[in-house]
Amino acid sequence: MPEHSFDIVVLGGGSGGYAAALRAAELGRTVALIEKDKLGGTCLHRGCIPTKALLHAAEVADTVRDAQKHGVRAQFDGVDTEALKTYRETIVAKKHRGLEGLVARRGITVVEGEGVLRADRTVAVGDDLYRAPDVVLATGSYSRTLPGIDIGGRILTSEGALALDEIPSRVVILGGGVIGVEFASLWRSLGAEVTIVEALPRLVPTEDAALSKALERAYRKRGIALRTGVRLSGARSTESGVEVDLEGDETIHADYLLVAVGRGPASDGLGLDEAGVRRESGFVATDEHLRTSAPGVWAVGDLVRGPQLAHRGFQHGIHVAETIAGLAPIAVPDAHIPRVTYSSPELASVGLSQVDAEETFGADAVAVVEYNLAGNGKSEIIGTGGIVKVIRRVDGPILGVHLAGDRVGELITEGQLAVGWDAHPEDIAPLVHAHPTQSEALGEAFLALAGKPLHAV
Ligand SMILES: Cc1cc2nc3c(=O)[nH]c(=O)nc-3n(C[C@H](O)[C@H](O)[C@H](O)COP(=O)(O)OP(=O)(O)OC[C@H]3O[C@@H](n4cnc5c(N)ncnc54)[C@H](O)[C@@H]3O)c2cc1C
Repeated sequence: MPEHSFDIVVLGGGSGGYAAALRAAELGRTVALIEKDKLGGTCLHRGCIPTKALLHAAEVADTVRDAQKHGVRAQFDGVDTEALKTYRETIVAKKHRGLEGLVARRGITVVEGEGVLRADRTVAVGDDLYRAPDVVLATGSYSRTLPGIDIGGRILTSEGALALDEIPSRVVILGGGVIGVEFASLWRSLGAEVTIVEALPRLVPTEDAALSKALERAYRKRGIALRTGVRLSGARSTESGVEVDLEGDETIHADYLLVAVGRGPASDGLGLDEAGVRRESGFVATDEHLRTSAPGVWAVGDLVRGPQLAHRGFQHGIHVAETIAGLAPIAVPDAHIPRVTYSSPELASVGLSQVDAEETFGADAVAVVEYNLAGNGKSEIIGTGGIVKVIRRVDGPILGVHLAGDRVGELITEGQLAVGWDAHPEDIAPLVHAHPTQSEALGEAFLALAGKPLHAV
């Protein structure tokens, strides 16, 4: 077998893997980056970027529909699905070319093919063997389904939904988590009748309950049917549609069923058990510096249990590359990773929910301020409602920031700095927010928590 030696071998070229490769190369290491499909992985080709392009088109459709309210004459004539596809694919292709160029400029060797870790911790790709003192596992995740619900025909995962050449007229979405609610939002704006079926009692159940409430209220107003606390008992794909059975003898007919019940770690068939890499429920077990149980083997991104987000993957990749290089990067706890749901309205959060904060510190040791965007001038101008909810430890730092409303994803950076830096409201309340911006709502919440509300009551 031909052997190739590097300082670092990275298995998987998605957000986590390519970030590890880029940072390692920057630090002077020789790197082989093994990818069986396309550099950029799920986020670039089947996740963040194409869905956000569709969501932007959905926002444009809503803006046109509402134009008259703002004194602008315009008429919504429908969606040109070919042009929509071209718009989305052009963005993905451009970012893909940019990434390929960047990886090449850093002198990283890209190996095309499927890699398998061997017991001696080399990586085999076909007949070639890649050897390095450090191997980074970054193979990502796959769309899960439920037992008895077979993907195929008109029963789709998010990958299938993105590949559709049409906007469905009627669609059922199984799962009210981030991927489910994003597709619900964009399909509704592009003209579909949408029903979300979620077994748990509320949408986005991992978020603070205030965000679920704000989202549910907005979705009902938008005409999205919500079946929360309801289980799906079966689904059949027919030539012309799907029949979706709910518990209690109800059947919904639609064009498609999107199954969005979460993503599992892509860790089977990689040789991990033979190489001594311990797994827990399929996720690769690591310490806080992302070392696995096998010496010299690291894991990053969706393969490691925690929020499955591209920027967590980037942070993991940088962290591992720097640790291997002998630097001492700080480990960022998962709770400090900002989370954004890019629906209309958007949701954004960082840190602890109220329930988690009260469980950790006791209800008496936690103070909460909720500021309604109805009091914020810019939100009124752009026509969005929503909330800003900030949680602090009494006489202590800000523990959590939770936002709902159009465009609030852009505000979470400030929340992330506050939570990540253990900022006290008294320290940051004097810092000024520009008027009129939505960020003022965050400033109002900090002022209120510091005991000196301006507009908040
Ligand atoms: C519909 C959707 C929307 C999303 N939207 C967002 C968003 O808006 N923001 C956000 O932060 N996150 C979003 N995500 C999540 C984000 O895409 C993932 O968190 C991120 O891609 C994880 O990066 P990763 O490197 O761990 O894995 P991936 O990006 O999945 O990369 C893994 C790579 O490894 C390759 N691979 C696997 N096995 C092998 C092998 N044996 N040999 C060689 N190569 C292999 C795969 O081909 C793939 O390219 C979204 C996901 C989906 C599905």
